[in-house]
Amino acid sequence: ATMPPLLSAIANAGRHGVLVKSAVVMERLGQADRVALDKTGTLTEGVPQVADIVPLESSGLSEDDLLALAAAAEHPSEHPLARAVVEAARSRGLRVPVASGFASTPGVGVIASVGGHRVAVGSPTRLHTTAPAAAEAEAFAGDAAAEAEAVAAAAELAGRLEEQGRTAVLVEIDGTPAGVLGITDRLRPDAAATVAALTVLTGTRPILVTGDNPRAAARLAAETGIGDVRAGLLPHDKVAAVRELERSGHRVLVVGDGVNDAPALAAAHTGLAMGRAGSDLALETADAVIVRDELATVPAVVGLSRRARRLVV
Ligand code: ADP
Ligand code: MG
Repeated sequence: ATMPPLLSAIANAGRHGVLVKSAVVMERLGQADRVALDKTGTLTEGVPQVADIVPLESSGLSEDDLLALAAAAEHPSEHPLARAVVEAARSRGLRVPVASGFASTPGVGVIASVGGHRVAVGSPTRLHTTAPAAAEAEAFAGDAAAEAEAVAAAAELAGRLEEQGRTAVLVEIDGTPAGVLGITDRLRPDAAATVAALTVLTGTRPILVTGDNPRAAARLAAETGIGDVRAGLLPHDKVAAVRELERSGHRVLVVGDGVNDAPALAAAHTGLAMGRAGSDLALETADAVIVRDELATVPAVVGLSRRARRLVV
């Protein structure tokens, strides 16, 4: 017997390096008329590197101290930024202290106890308001002015790094900013070609949905030909963006890699996860997984789906 078109399309997708989980998914891939792409780990290689280590003068820390503390808190995290921080500490041969009581908030950052101090590492705009530091803040009420000064200095520093296209990562000790790390991540070589191919296939330029800062996001959109940028999104904001598009009649294909993308991958008409750098949660939640680490497989499977559907109907 000859194989039904959707099954042979699944086999074909497999040869392209994409694991499509069912015939229904194979059929849906070609129905998308909007594509929403995540930034870190999806359009970029997801192997970010620490380029700048800037302790605030008020912290009294050296570059190495700041990096070692950040690496201690980031050690259990699977976020690409966390791996960059840990790798930078390792390559400098730093002794990284052991952390306890680790907790992470997708799209925000991590917090852990290091040597009796609460060390938080994450988004400069989100961390300060979200870290569970209210109790500590009370205890430090006497230092309110110094605290406010450190917050302002860190914000200025982060802004400067973001203007250079860096992702700025704030390090806080006991709720007070101690320094900022600047992280760079290379664009995937096939990012612009993929955006162009998806634009032709869907008739609309793809949308960037990212938790990263608007400055770095705008820069990347200009480099790749993306038409619509939604930056500074938390996981539930990515879901809201997808739902809004689907309410107005669109079928959205979401491509992402992170724990922070899992809710949007689940909410979308179709969710595609990047396999190599992808988090376990994203791989489980997605309808299909890009096993070979090439973004250009996305338009390829959309094309396969369209051809199979023409044979089915
Ligand atoms: P994207 O949507 O581009 O993949 P994420 O939502 O994963 O980005 O992250 C958004 C922002 O949250 C990051 O730019 C960073 O500021 C912060 N962040 C999240 N997790 C971490 C972490 N483990 N370490 C440092 N920063 C983090
Ligand atoms: Mg990501």
